[in-house]
Amino acid sequence: MRKKIVAGNWKMNNDLGQTEELLSKLLKKMPDTEAEVMVAPAFTNLRVAFDTLSQSPVEVIAQNMHFAENGAYTGEVSAEMLKSVGIQTVILGHSERRAYFNETDETLAKKVDTALQHDMTIVFCFGEELEDRKAGKHFDLVESQLKKALFHLKASAWKSIVLAYEPVWAIGTGETASPEQAQEMHKFIRETIASNYSEKVADGVSILYGGSVKPDNAKEIFSQPDVDGGLIGGASLKAKDFISIIEAVQ
Ligand code: PGA
Repeated sequence: MRKKIVAGNWKMNNDLGQTEELLSKLLKKMPDTEAEVMVAPAFTNLRVAFDTLSQSPVEVIAQNMHFAENGAYTGEVSAEMLKSVGIQTVILGHSERRAYFNETDETLAKKVDTALQHDMTIVFCFGEELEDRKAGKHFDLVESQLKKALFHLKASAWKSIVLAYEPVWAIGTGETASPEQAQEMHKFIRETIASNYSEKVADGVSILYGGSVKPDNAKEIFSQPDVDGGLIGGASLKAKDFISIIEAVQ
């Protein structure tokens, strides 16, 4: 019953011309799929992407936003601004935001609240670093990230939350979690949600895997029972690869 989702996070790649080129390739080749497909271009290209894809089932989403409503926050973009150009969904908590822009669990809790107040859907990213895993702390770390940013929410808010488990050591490194490692963590995440909320909430939330998903490993990862799709970085920049990954959703 829960949604399968494949989302492409284009990060700080593609200027206007490159964005238009990639969008037109995607439009031409988009397969018939039960999965919800999303792409996250840079802020400057959101509007052109929204217009180009408006007749297609592909949703255009943002990579980030600020928690404040508006005001003196030079360089930032608000929920209202995103909504005014048609954007309904935002990625929050990506490990690059956490690592390079000092986003903490506490900041993210505020962003989550703002996005929900604006009736937006959130693709919430989290995941452990290699040292955490080597020290056997990955489950505790993931639980604490979820608790601090999301467990203050009412059960009813979870219909607007998509989770993306992204072990930091697998992002852009070419190293993926094995399908077993992904399944083990996704199952743990679902159980943690069930014990803090209910089985119903836990069963309804889509949990995506992210970290070096490619056409040749997507099928095996997506076939795990608690993996409901993927958040794709590098491989979403090539239409052919992204489409193969979408096709890997069963
Ligand atoms: P990657 O990035 O697929 O290039 O590893 C995933 C992500 O950062 O969401």
